[in-house]
Amino acid sequence: MVNELCPDCEAEIEVPEDAMIGEIVSCPDCGLDLEVVEVDEGNMALERISIEKEDWGE
Ligand SMILES: [Zn+2]
Repeated sequence: MVNELCPDCEAEIEVPEDAMIGEIVSCPDCGLDLEVVEVDEGNMALERISIEKEDWGE
């Protein structure tokens, strides 16, 4: 397993080491769906695929 940080809530997301590009993983904390966009020798890049309502506040 490779641990990646959720871009939204910074929870740790476990991604299988044999994950393929295009695979979808979900954050266990906030449920954000992330797509594996890069796999490089144990390093993963995740990108959010579900654009939640951006709430910029203020
Ligand atoms: Zn999250």
